[in-house]
Amino acid sequence: SYEPASRVSRIKSSPSVAAAARVRELKAEGRTIIDLTVGEPDFDTPEHIKAAAVAAIEAGETKYTSVTGTPALQSAILGRLERHTGISYGKNEITLGGGAKQVIFLALMATLDAGDEVIIPAPYWVSYPDMVLANEGTPLIVPCGGDTGFKLTPEALRGAITPQSKWLILNTPSNPTGAVYSRDELAALAGVLEEFPQLLVLTDEIYDEINFCRERIASLVEVAPALKDRILLVNGVSKAYAMTGWRIGYAAGPAPVVAAINKLQSQMSSCPSSVSQAAAAAALSGDQSFVSESVEVYRGRRDTAVAGLNAVDGLSCSAADGAFYTWVNCSGVIGKTTPAGTTIRNDEDFTLYLLDAASVAVIQGSAYGLEPYFRISFATDLDTIQSAVVAIDKAVRALS
Ligand code: PLP
Repeated sequence: SYEPASRVSRIKSSPSVAAAARVRELKAEGRTIIDLTVGEPDFDTPEHIKAAAVAAIEAGETKYTSVTGTPALQSAILGRLERHTGISYGKNEITLGGGAKQVIFLALMATLDAGDEVIIPAPYWVSYPDMVLANEGTPLIVPCGGDTGFKLTPEALRGAITPQSKWLILNTPSNPTGAVYSRDELAALAGVLEEFPQLLVLTDEIYDEINFCRERIASLVEVAPALKDRILLVNGVSKAYAMTGWRIGYAAGPAPVVAAINKLQSQMSSCPSSVSQAAAAAALSGDQSFVSESVEVYRGRRDTAVAGLNAVDGLSCSAADGAFYTWVNCSGVIGKTTPAGTTIRNDEDFTLYLLDAASVAVIQGSAYGLEPYFRISFATDLDTIQSAVVAIDKAVRALS
């Protein structure tokens, strides 16, 4: 019988993709599910972006592009990077792929040898550890609890670094917690990084536009420009412009790392879709009002979710500074018993109970490397959030 390669046996499918599939299955069976698992904006892609894609199709921009993208997208990316970080990158320092996800995968594939360690603060985006494992590396998980706002401290970073450390992955704003590193926090981490010149840093900034703070979200590279030749800044258009299906992500960083990624990309997919590239160029260089308008809508939903969930006995959460997730502590329900007589031993039991008893789908904290929590996405309409809170409250009241 067929046995997959060891790199496949080492990893699991993405839990968030699996959760979305489970919700689709239940809906197909006729169940009404209140779905708070979805990690993508519920808005439609703005009209001017769609129009740019249509224009590209009509102009015959339907062929392979260079591995590093069309000139229009390259200059849109370079312009966005300069506006955001104040740093002018060269064309040889940027790369792109089919979503930030593919770019991160390629970055790890391009740099990891067997046994190289990648420092991943937990809770983490579900894909990082498995991407490291798929590429022969060793994930080194550093738990970061509520006492530090679920953020990596300089002391914890220092304690995690070994001679095998190749990368630190820093995700700000964070999926799943929404935590944002302040300039001071980034500067403090940079102080440690300066002492370990062999260590590269991948900053995943895919949520940097979903920002509820007064100040713009800082990037490590602008706080510590001296580290520029060790930082790979990853971003994309999926979250900020409601473009998850278009699959365009990009990265900026050290030319040798970028060249290695491009070499792999030349053998993997040649380039992402030319039509999507035209759309992404319009997104990055065009009118930005969609971004601020959608953030205000997210803010209202976030506040509704946080107030509602904090009113449920046994649950607690705080308002995230960025991204569209609420990270909920559910320690108050662990050990309780369901009406059917089963004990809720951990956050996975609790999320299964919510699906069963309340028809609410959320993702358990253990999928992100920290228990007992669950993540809800508020990239969904207010009605859905309100009915989820009512249903969760009812289900929790039924516990004894
Ligand atoms: N990074 C984080 C933290 C994410 O949550 C996601 C999407 O869920 C991605 C990267 C990938 O985004 P995309 O591949 O759509 O650009």
